[in-house]
Amino acid sequence: MSQTQDSIFTKIIKREIPADIVYEDELAIAFKDVNPQAPIHILVVPKQPIAKLSDAESQDHRLMGHLLLTVKRVAEQAGLVNGYRTVINTGPEGGQTVFHLHIHILGGRPMGWPPG
Ligand code: AMP
Repeated sequence: MSQTQDSIFTKIIKREIPADIVYEDELAIAFKDVNPQAPIHILVVPKQPIAKLSDAESQDHRLMGHLLLTVKRVAEQAGLVNGYRTVINTGPEGGQTVFHLHIHILGGRPMGWPPG
C-alpha cells in the first residue's frame, strides 16, 4: 500500500465506510470485527495511521499506553468479566492483513494456547 492511500481503518475513522463502532475518543476508535473469531471480537485502532507495531517509535509511548487502557475500557464495556484474549498481529509472518495498527479483543469463549 502506498503511504498516501488511506487504510480501510482510516476510512472507517473518516466515516467513509460503515462499521459497528463501540467506542471513540480523540486518539482511538474501537469497532466490531467484520469476521468475528469469537462471540465478542472488537478491534482497538489508533487514529494515527501507524502501519504496524514494529513501526511505533518512542515518541508514540503515550498513544501506545492509551491503546492498552482503551482495551481495558472497551472489554469492560463489552461485559468481558471472565477475561479475554488480546492479539496484535505484526507483519506478514505475524498474520497481519490490515496494515494499520490494531489490537484484537477476543472474548466470550475460553481461549486455547498455543495460538495457531
Ligand atoms: P489482522 O489480520 O490482524 O491484520 O486483522 C485484521 C482484521 O480486520 C481481521 O480480523 C478482519 O476481519 C478485520 N476487518 C477487515 N476489514 C474490516 C472492516 N471493514 N470492518 C471491521 N473489521 C474488518
